[in-house]
Amino acid sequence: MASIFDRRGQLAPFTIRSRVMFQELCILGVGWDDPLDAEHTRRWTSCFSELGDLALIRAPRCFKCPGRESSVATLSLHVFTDASDAAYTANVYVRAEYPDGNVRVTLALAKARPCPIKKMSIPKLELKGAMLGVCLAQTVNDELDLPKADATNWSDSMNVLHWVRAHSRKFKIDVGNRIAEVQEYLAGNHVLGKLNPADKSTRGLTVAKLASDSVWWSGPEFLVQQHNEWPSRQITVPKELPGMVKRAQVMAFAVHTRGDPEAASTAADSVELKSEELQRAECHWYAIAQAESYPASYRQLTSGKSLAANDPLLRLNPVLHKDYPCVLRVGGRLKTASHLPEHTRHPIILPQHHRITQLIVDAEDRKCDHSVGPNHLLANLMLRLWIIRGKVVTRSHRAHCVLCKKKWATVALQQIAPLPLFRTAPPCRAFSRVGVDYAGPFRTKQGCGKTQLKRYLCVFSCLQS
Ligand SMILES: [Zn+2]
Repeated sequence: MASIFDRRGQLAPFTIRSRVMFQELCILGVGWDDPLDAEHTRRWTSCFSELGDLALIRAPRCFKCPGRESSVATLSLHVFTDASDAAYTANVYVRAEYPDGNVRVTLALAKARPCPIKKMSIPKLELKGAMLGVCLAQTVNDELDLPKADATNWSDSMNVLHWVRAHSRKFKIDVGNRIAEVQEYLAGNHVLGKLNPADKSTRGLTVAKLASDSVWWSGPEFLVQQHNEWPSRQITVPKELPGMVKRAQVMAFAVHTRGDPEAASTAADSVELKSEELQRAECHWYAIAQAESYPASYRQLTSGKSLAANDPLLRLNPVLHKDYPCVLRVGGRLKTASHLPEHTRHPIILPQHHRITQLIVDAEDRKCDHSVGPNHLLANLMLRLWIIRGKVVTRSHRAHCVLCKKKWATVALQQIAPLPLFRTAPPCRAFSRVGVDYAGPFRTKQGCGKTQLKRYLCVFSCLQS
C-alpha cells in the first residue's frame, strides 16, 4: 500500500481496495503475524497479482490537446463525488475547450478515502465526499489559476444536490458548516450513477479494467459535448432533508390510573404529537381559562347568544373562532386584513388572574431568557394573545420571577475611601511608588496548531500618575 506512489490519485480505484481491506483487518483485530482467513487471502492475493500490470498504465500529463498546447482554450473544472459504505471519493477533471468546439477532458486529481470506522450514514458520507471534492477542486484551481466560478459539481446523490441548494442555516451546526463550505465553491448538477467516474473508486477496479476505463481517465462522454447538451435535471429541494434541525419533538404522556391496576401497570403511553394536535391542546387550555374566569360570557357566546350589557368582555367584542369553536377571540377591527395571520387579527383572550395566563407569561419569559422588560414581553405575547390588563400581568410576573430579578439586579454602589497618604504625598515622579499585580498561568497558542504555552502576567501600576 505504502509503496505505490500515486500523488494525483489516478490509481484510486485500485489502491482503495487494499486500503479498505486493511481497515477491515484492523476492525477484526488481526495481528501482524496472524494468518488471514480464506476470503481475505483470496482478495489480497488478487491485489498483489495485479501490481505488475500497473506499469502498463499510461496517463497524459497535459490537459490540452496534443500539439495545441499553446493555443487558447477555456479551462473549467468538473468535480464528481460519491460515497458508499466502504469509501468516499472525489474526482476533478479539467475540461479544455477550444474556440473551434474541440474539447478535451482529463483527470486532474482524484482521491478515495475509506469510510471512518465510526459508522456514518450514507448522506453524511456523501457530504464528506463533496467536501473532499471542494478540497481537490481548490488545489487544482490554485495550481491552474482558474476563477472559482468555473467549477461544476456532479453527484449522483440527491441528498448532496439538495443540500447544496438548501439554506445552510437550516441544518445542524456541523452539517450546516460543511454545506456552506461546499456551497461557496460548487453549484450542484446531477449525474447518473453509472456515468459518475467517482463511483469507480467507491467500488474498486482491477488494474486491467482501470487501464482501459475511458470514463475514469476522461470523464463521462457528455462532457465532450457542448454545455447545452449536458444532462440537466430540475432539482426541487424538499422541505425536510437529512441533517436538518428537527423541530422540538414533544412527547405526551397519558396516564391511565383510575383505580384500574392493569392500566396503572402500563403507566404511561408515549405518543408523538403533531403540531396541529399541540395547537388543539393549547386552545383547550385557553378555553378552560376563559370558561373559569368569565363563566357567564363564555356560556352566552358558546350558546350563540350575545353578551349582556354589563359583560366585562363587551368592550373587546369577542368572537368564537371557527376552527376551535371553544375559544373566545378579540373581535377587533382587523377583520378585513386578510394578509395578517388569524391570531394577529383576532388574538385569543386570556384572563388576568389565571394559572394558565401565568404559565404562558412564564414560558414566554423563559423563551426570551429573562432578558427583556415587561413591555417587551407583553408585546411578544400580544402577537397572538390578548391578556386582560396585560401590563399589570407582565409587571407582576417580573416582580416575582427570581431569574429576572437576578439578571436585572443593579450592582450595589460602595462609597470609595479617600486615597491613602502614600499615593498623594510628594515626590510625584511616575513609578516612584508602584502597585504590583500578578496573575496566571494563562494558556496561549503561538500560531496555528502549536502546543500551548504557559504565560504569566505581571502588572506594574504607578500609584501616583
Ligand atoms: Zn424571568
